[in-house]
Amino acid sequence: MRESIDHILFSEEQIQTRIREMAQQISTEYADKDPIFIGVFKGVVLFFADFVKRVSIHCEMDFLQISSYQGTQSKHMELKKALCSDITGRHVVILEDIFDTGHSLEYTYDYICRQAPASVKIVTLLDKPARRDPKVTLQADLVGFTVPNEFVVGYGMDYNEHFRNLPYIGVLKPEVYEG
Ligand code: 5GP
Ligand code: MG
Repeated sequence: MRESIDHILFSEEQIQTRIREMAQQISTEYADKDPIFIGVFKGVVLFFADFVKRVSIHCEMDFLQISSYQGTQSKHMELKKALCSDITGRHVVILEDIFDTGHSLEYTYDYICRQAPASVKIVTLLDKPARRDPKVTLQADLVGFTVPNEFVVGYGMDYNEHFRNLPYIGVLKPEVYEG
């Protein structure tokens, strides 16, 4: 797999160091709040697992899955897997792999807010501000790394369902897309 990667953006060690910092920050902010961490499948799974291992306070976990499809005029989001928990009155922390155009996070945020949580925070491992849809006004509360406008893979993120299990984050070689 390494031969398909043009260059590594964040090594395993860099990712783990940053996640420890983020988890410590959230543990301090949410002490005594009994938060529920909500991950968005599938890209978040590696980040989610490593993050919650570093959280030092009591917490719960749940997951949802959404998918996007291209309509005649614009992209639409669809809920593929709903939450199992009742989050009414709860302090929710959304975990995402990457904040790109922002459509997924906006959809996720609205879906969660409709269930009347006490508060909602957005934590994303990566932020790619160059790709943000100007119509999206939502902002992340905590960002692991800001990335350039390149398609990244690894550490949960895929290209055609491949590369999710890489322990680092890298940029693919152009010939992989060109096939
Ligand atoms: P959005 O464009 O809605 O912000 O991002 C939607 C989803 O597309 C992300 O959660 C992520 O799973 C995927 N995505 C966005 N940018 C990238 C990228 O650079 N690489 C990979 N592998 N997936 C991405
Ligand atoms: Mg995602």
